[in-house]
This record gives sequence, C-alpha cells and structure tokens, in this order.
Amino acid sequence: MDSRINNPKETEAIAKIIGSVADQGDTIILSGDLGAGKTTMTKGIALGLGIDQMIKSPTYTIIREYQQGRLPLYHMDVYRIENGADDLGLEEYFEGDGLCVVEWGKLLGEFLPADYLDITIEKDPEDMEKRKLLIQAFGEKSEQFLSRIEQKMEERT
Ligand code: ADP
Ligand code: MG
Repeated sequence: MDSRINNPKETEAIAKIIGSVADQGDTIILSGDLGAGKTTMTKGIALGLGIDQMIKSPTYTIIREYQQGRLPLYHMDVYRIENGADDLGLEEYFEGDGLCVVEWGKLLGEFLPADYLDITIEKDPEDMEKRKLLIQAFGEKSEQFLSRIEQKMEERT
C-alpha cells in the first residue's frame, strides 16, 4: 500500500488508524532516514492504542514500554546496536502480548521476526512536510494487519 502525506498531522492520523487495528504479537518495522517521521508515527500509533502518555524516542535506551493502552506497546530504536542484536533479548518482546514498533528495524537482520509489517517513510526533497509512505506485509499475520488498515482507511474516506 502506498500513501502520500502532506504534513505531520496526516502522519499521525494514519498512524492512529494503524494503532487502532493492531493485534497482540504484531510487529511494525519503521524505515526511513533520520527525521523522516518514525518517532512521530509511533506517537500516532500509541494514540491509536489509547496511550496518552508522552512517547519519547528510545534511541539511548533501545526500548521503552507503555502498558496503559489496549495492548502493551514496545517501542524500540535499534539505530545504535553496534554489536548485533543477539544479546538484546528482543525475541521475548516479539513473541509477547503487545505491539512492537521498531525504528531502524532492518538493522536487526537475522534477528528480525519472521512476520512483520514494514513501513517506509520517504521525505520529499521539494517540501519539508510531505512524505511518501510504503506499507508492506511480510508474513500472514501482517497481511491480515495490513488488510485491517486498508479497510479502516476506506471507511474513513
Ligand atoms: P525519526 O524518528 O524518523 O528520526 P522524528 O519523528 O523524530 O523522525 O522527526 C520527524 C520530524 O519531521 C519532526 O520534527 C516532524 O515534526 C517533522 N515532520 C514534518 N513533516 C512531517 C510529516 N509529514 N510526518 C512526520 N513528521 C514530519
Ligand atoms: Mg526516531
């Protein structure tokens, strides 16, 4: 699925839809340059889960957990993993009862879960606030996740 976004509010609106249809055990990998909007998107996803707590970038902590929504949210940023991901113990989160959102998740390589939804955010060189979103499902569970997202977006338009 492709989507064009004009400003941060629209990013948050789509993200909120994504959060509202997430299921336990779903994983979202966020790809895109620094400043593309991965953390902004995670804030919207959190809102969609019913989390109203401030979402802070977990760049230095690798992971932050939020337990007050419809599902637990495990927000990870693996930009700084230098020595690989094998000693981070992330599987326990991927196999867990919540939604995992992983900024720079592609860096996990072989430690990526088998089934995940990839959201790539691309900046527009001509316009500071425009973005292109590409959402791709890898695996059966994320295909179902993606169809719930598409359905909800259709209902809205
Ligand atoms: P990342 O986590 O990918 O490094 P952030 O979400 O922290 O990026 O930062 C994105 C920045 O770009 C924010 O300052 C945000 O306000 C700005 N921005 C401008 N337009 C958009 C948009 N359409 N979607 C998301 N963020 C946007
Ligand atoms: Mg970030």
